[in-house]
Amino acid sequence: MKRALLFCLAMAFLSLSGTSLADLPRNMPVPGGVKVIDLPDEGNGRPELRYRDRDVLVIPREGGYRALLGVPLSTSPGEQSYRLRRDGGGWETRHFQVEPKEYAESRITIADERMVTPDEEALERIGRERPRIRRALATHSDQDDVPIRFQLPVKNRQTSAFGLQRYINDQRRNPHSGVDIAGATGTPIHAPAPGKVIETGHFYFNGKTVFLDHGQGLISMFAHMDEISVETGDTLETDDLVGKVGMTGRVTGPHLHWSVSLGNTMVNPRYFLEDESPLDVE
Ligand SMILES: [Zn+2]
Repeated sequence: MKRALLFCLAMAFLSLSGTSLADLPRNMPVPGGVKVIDLPDEGNGRPELRYRDRDVLVIPREGGYRALLGVPLSTSPGEQSYRLRRDGGGWETRHFQVEPKEYAESRITIADERMVTPDEEALERIGRERPRIRRALATHSDQDDVPIRFQLPVKNRQTSAFGLQRYINDQRRNPHSGVDIAGATGTPIHAPAPGKVIETGHFYFNGKTVFLDHGQGLISMFAHMDEISVETGDTLETDDLVGKVGMTGRVTGPHLHWSVSLGNTMVNPRYFLEDESPLDVE
């Protein structure tokens, strides 16, 4: 009730001031970005799209539908294709262009060698944990209403950007698949948008982690937490407490690592934020 009232007041303010909310997520067809496709309503319901052999998130919008495709960081610039089907008819292949984007390098040193080159016992543990993480990220729950406007889960500056090519103790590793946000141990982490908790655990690299399903393959992952305040099955509203910032797993200090996965593809969370300025610092 209170939230609805605040929302109405905010909308009234916005219409009075003449400014409008940004269209989110931003259409950024780059590696690690989101390709936004608007489709007119042709009177036969929600269209189906498939990209990289996965169902695509499609939400209703004024006059039609909006589809969101997550472009993997590993994608080379150039033509990509997806398939479209209306009213259960035949599949049509369509194309779009992925634009180039440069990502910086980052070199960090981790003193605990077991975190850089895990021993046999650790490798076994990582092997047991991997299917749980994969399953959570591959979740696709079908629902019409999917929130696509996010708030920062911790309202601080970014300390490490999405997409950085990382070298840990001079060894090349996967690029950074989320954003790191500054925060002392114990800083509360709030849900960036409504969602359902689909997995929690204490993982070798990610530490204490929560997976929040926003619907149709849009998932938030919060890692390195000190404390988890939710359980699998919990339904959260925007701003509900998820847990506390910590330094569990492979870290150099306390911070929140926040990943956003779209269609099982890590994309830059900033494209879902009204105000992306806190993530400008790299
Ligand atoms: Zn991180």
